[in-house]
Amino acid sequence: IPATTLAMVLLRRPRSAAAVAASPRVAVVRRPRPHPTPTTDRPPDLAVREPVVAFVALGANLGDAQAALARAMDALDRLPHTRVTARSSLYRSAPVDARGPDFVNAVVRVSTRLPAPTLLDELQQLEQAAGRERPYRHAPRTLDLDLLLYGDASIDSPRLTLPHPRMHERAFVLVPLAEIEPSRVTLQALTAVAGQRIERIG
Ligand code: ADP
Ligand code: MG
Repeated sequence: IPATTLAMVLLRRPRSAAAVAASPRVAVVRRPRPHPTPTTDRPPDLAVREPVVAFVALGANLGDAQAALARAMDALDRLPHTRVTARSSLYRSAPVDARGPDFVNAVVRVSTRLPAPTLLDELQQLEQAAGRERPYRHAPRTLDLDLLLYGDASIDSPRLTLPHPRMHERAFVLVPLAEIEPSRVTLQALTAVAGQRIERIG
């Protein structure tokens, strides 16, 4: 190649952006924008990344207990980052530690992105909203929501113990839990609470 031609090639000014874009041989690639941050009513740091399967026990023995449990199940399904994925039947049980009239009990399975302590906060807020009072230990209650299991988590902190420390002593927890998640309840555990009165009411 003659030196002058080579110099002309090397010194040629780059084509304008518009010319490049118009050229049929050049594809203009636009990077996709990152996905917008999902808008929720909570700060995103309250959510864990992967959903966790958790189980919540519901109980009430004051007022219209069946209606309270039905409302609570709906409210659990509306919690942020949380879905109810299974509901047991309602059961009637004699008070074990607590006092007062018979209890209505149930267990639900949830899929949640809330960390366990945040989920407990939400459960306690729902208890408050249902008019829960704690005049004394084991008092009758309009609504009791206990976190039974949170994935395979094992926690022992002042306000949260997981698995729930008394779940294996209570037919009103084990029977509804076995109904929706038989793999989480052993026959041995069910046999141990077989003497406790509990009946399915629908
Ligand atoms: P209970 O359900 O034992 O009759 P409460 O509902 O009044 O009594 O709960 C007493 C305390 O138990 C709560 O303040 C809560 O911090 C604590 N707690 C510890 N572990 C759990 C759990 N897994 N689920 C619910 N509450 C728990
Ligand atoms: Mg409780």
